[in-house]
Amino acid sequence: MYVNAEQLRRLWKDLGILRVIEREEFSRLVRTALKVRKLKAGVMPYKIRDDYRRVMPTRISSKRYHREGKLEFKREGIERSLVNASWTLHGVHRIMKSFRSANEVIVKDEKLLTAVIKRAALFYGADLVGIAPFDDRWLYEGFEMPFKPKCVIVLAFEMDLGVSSDDIIAAEVGYNYSKMSFTVLCLAKFISGLGFNALPQCNEGSLSIPFGILAGLGEIGRMGLLVTPEYGARVRLAKVFTDAPLVVDNPISFGLWEKCMDCCICADACPVGAIPYGPPSWESKAGQVGVYKWHIDPKRCYSYWVKIGRSCAKCVYACPYSKALWDLYRIEAKRRALRYISSLGE
Ligand code: SF4
Ligand code: SF4
Repeated sequence: MYVNAEQLRRLWKDLGILRVIEREEFSRLVRTALKVRKLKAGVMPYKIRDDYRRVMPTRISSKRYHREGKLEFKREGIERSLVNASWTLHGVHRIMKSFRSANEVIVKDEKLLTAVIKRAALFYGADLVGIAPFDDRWLYEGFEMPFKPKCVIVLAFEMDLGVSSDDIIAAEVGYNYSKMSFTVLCLAKFISGLGFNALPQCNEGSLSIPFGILAGLGEIGRMGLLVTPEYGARVRLAKVFTDAPLVVDNPISFGLWEKCMDCCICADACPVGAIPYGPPSWESKAGQVGVYKWHIDPKRCYSYWVKIGRSCAKCVYACPYSKALWDLYRIEAKRRALRYISSLGE
């Protein structure tokens, strides 16, 4: 099978359904309003020393923190059922055992292929998508890729702005993990159907944040998470590694690093002091070597999760970038819709 430019162009156009166009437009609008600057492609915007080495799986999921206790949802009854059910599809992407389903590479137009794959990612359920060049420094220690990737498609999934109760936040986390698994699996299968290798991943295999930064999805903030212009830190990240020759995005700056120098809202919001005050540093509490950023204390954070019996997202929801934009956009969209509906009755 050979896919020509005309077929790609047609598919790109057909994929422009409402939920795809809406996310694309919102992103354009926010990035223009925030005066997002594009930085040099393939270059990490914060300092990485030559002695950087691959890390073990990080932050919360790592077994090395399990001596602090095992994370178990402690609530009984209806909330427990809601949260447990939200994780139903998590891990479904691991059923993909073969990474390639066609024998020949069949697409020649890299720019159009990239545009189609980005729309396919939004079609299958992602809220943001960017392409990073592959860099094996960000793989976890001991993880080997089953093929030689050229790039990483990084997908972000919005956690709902309206969640206020801790139980619903816990269910929202599970819901997004299930959705991520479904989306990366569909996207990887689509790409492998075009004749390229594609490996779907959620948290396993590699760090997600460095790839998210290189893919132009956002900047790293004081709380150690990726902060996007569109949804702040209210995102979960997943990835598809591929040898498809895609056009990579540029890392971006919207002034977050400078803002975090003065702002400590997330550090104030953390109930266990896991987020540092003061400037960034090289000192890591998780054994990471050679990265200049704000390093959180994952042991404190995880211990708190164990204590309360569910995940916590206080820092995520406290960040000013996590709040305003999508909310304002929805309010404005609602106003426009109401004006339109009233005009129908005139
Ligand atoms: S998730 Fe909760 S405990 Fe962990 S750093 Fe954020 S606010 Fe602190
Ligand atoms: S709350 Fe403030 S310091 Fe923390 S990541 Fe957001 S902008 Fe930066």
